[in-house]
Parts: sequence; C-alpha cells; structure tokens
Amino acid sequence: MAKKIPMRSCTGCGAKKEKRELIRVIRTPEGSIVLDGSGRANGRGAYLCRNPECLEKARKKRALEKSLGAQIPEEVYERLSEGLAREQRSGGSLGGDHAG
Ligand SMILES: [Zn+2]
Repeated sequence: MAKKIPMRSCTGCGAKKEKRELIRVIRTPEGSIVLDGSGRANGRGAYLCRNPECLEKARKKRALEKSLGAQIPEEVYERLSEGLAREQRSGGSLGGDHAG
C-alpha cells in the first residue's frame, strides 16, 4: 500500500507539493504575519513555495490575505520576501530550477 504524503497547494502558483517542500505563513494570535519555519506554530496558516515569486503572485491576487483573513501591509510582504529568499538559499542543496 502506498504511503500517503500530505500535500498542500501553494497560495501563489497553486502547485501541489509535499507539505515539507512548502513554507508556512501564519497569522499569530497577536495578528502578525510571519513565516513559520517549524511548520508547527499555532495560528491560521497558508502555504507558499520557498520562492519569493510565489509570494509576489499571492500578493497580486490577494490570496494570502484571503487565506489568513488579515490585511497584509507592504512592509510585511517585504519581510516575508526576505525570509523566503533566505530559505531558498539555505535549502538550495537539491539544485536545479523548478520548471514551470
Ligand atoms: Zn508556488
């Protein structure tokens, strides 16, 4: 029997990926929007590829705001984008650009 791998959709590009390949963005009980590196923090969450471009896509369609039920100011997007860029670099041992 095949083992079930939990899949999640990226809020930006919509691609379905394994949960651990995505990064979780959460709204904390205090109302801040942060990257959840552990994937285990409490709060309402949305998933994104480890790619600032997906954040940009999500931002254009306001998908993150919808998922998190919160207004997201410009500075928060900038902070998330920096965080994603860092994730992308630190997790870049797999190599290769993703197609599509
Ligand atoms: Zn994506």
